[in-house]
Amino acid sequence: METEIDMIKFEAALKKVLAKADILGIQELPVDKTIGYVLAENIRAGYDMPLFNKSAMDGYAVHSNDLKIVPVRLKCVATIRAGESYSFRRNKRTVKKGECVKIMTGSPLPRGTDSVVMVEYTEEDNNGWIRILKRVNPGENVCFKGEDVKNGSVVLGKGMLIRGPEVAIISSLGITKVKVFRKPTVTILNTGDEIVEPGNKLTYGKIYNSNGHMLLSLFRDMGIKARYLGIAKDEEKILTKKIMEGFNYDIFLISGGVSMGDYDLIPAVLGKCGVKKMFHKIKIKPGKPVFFGIKENRLIFGIPGNPVSTYLVFLILIKPVIDKMMGKKPDLNIRRGILKEDFKQIPGRKHFVPAKVIDKLDNPADKLDNPADKRGLLKVYPVRGYHGSADIFSLSQANAFMIIDENVSLLRRNRWVNLIRW
Ligand code: AMP
Ligand code: MG
Repeated sequence: METEIDMIKFEAALKKVLAKADILGIQELPVDKTIGYVLAENIRAGYDMPLFNKSAMDGYAVHSNDLKIVPVRLKCVATIRAGESYSFRRNKRTVKKGECVKIMTGSPLPRGTDSVVMVEYTEEDNNGWIRILKRVNPGENVCFKGEDVKNGSVVLGKGMLIRGPEVAIISSLGITKVKVFRKPTVTILNTGDEIVEPGNKLTYGKIYNSNGHMLLSLFRDMGIKARYLGIAKDEEKILTKKIMEGFNYDIFLISGGVSMGDYDLIPAVLGKCGVKKMFHKIKIKPGKPVFFGIKENRLIFGIPGNPVSTYLVFLILIKPVIDKMMGKKPDLNIRRGILKEDFKQIPGRKHFVPAKVIDKLDNPADKLDNPADKRGLLKVYPVRGYHGSADIFSLSQANAFMIIDENVSLLRRNRWVNLIRW
């Protein structure tokens, strides 16, 4: 039988888990579907950007030499819409001294002009004459060919996370498909004789399945459509059958049945199914009974069924694993804040406590006294009345877990505390 001594520290557990999480492979996707993925190739520009000198403003393309003394009258010889080209339309005619061309943002700059006067600094006279009221420098209000990107240069590097701007950049290069790192496939099994699917009748002693739906939603939020295997009763035969269905996925999460109760059968059943145990139990609170094992490169997690534990384990173990598999840096993003209330605990395990974190600058009153050195300071309030791993209501009032080390019994207010925000 396992004892408390088998428990490993959180840092060691995370290390073990990440050591088994390898980048999965490469997949080609249409650009529109790549947000949230990591690039598996360098994206190079196939041409200069912009591809031609173009106007940055609505106004008049002029030669700046004509504007030495203003106001000055110039003859407007054409209007160029975006997408049109004066030089092309007029058979390579050059704009002459004393002439100008009405131009829109994004239109190619006509030959013979070197700058653009904003329409706001012009007036229309009669018969196509324009009064220019303000001088411009050569090149003013012009975006020059190649000023953003040179032909052949790497615009986005392998390993970059694709967000909205990256989709725009890739599209602006005319590229429709890109290579990204594949996201893991995931499956979820809920276990417990007492667990009932929402939508069904609840009889005495039963509870609804909450964490299965939370997990499915959290994965969906990461762009992963997890396969849901439903709820299995705490019986070895049933569990074995269900568990055998979950091994074809990169990550298999089994909720419930990993603690010390008579019907917590998961670790034993997993062992019989050929799963190699990496650890069972971590020195954390909540979430202590976490099980982690592997079978043929697949990662198998047994997660305690209480929803706060489930959420915490997702945040501090599962999400980093997924990030690493899909090419992201697995970063818990631990920050520091100032604890605003004394916090007492029984020492023993690293304690993740639901807390409300307030950014100093979120509060308008704080801006008034303007202590520049306190900018960005985080204030941390443990959620009042939090009573343990089943308390999803307290969890819902939190936006962070503050992290209290295992040997601490009292942390005074106004001391630094580490936290993970979500
Ligand atoms: P277990 O991890 O099976 O020992 O369960 C620990 C506690 O979490 C028990 O009170 C269970 O009823 C509860 N629990 C287990 N699975 C779920 C679930 N899917 N949704 C909500 N609570 C659960
Ligand atoms: Mg159970």
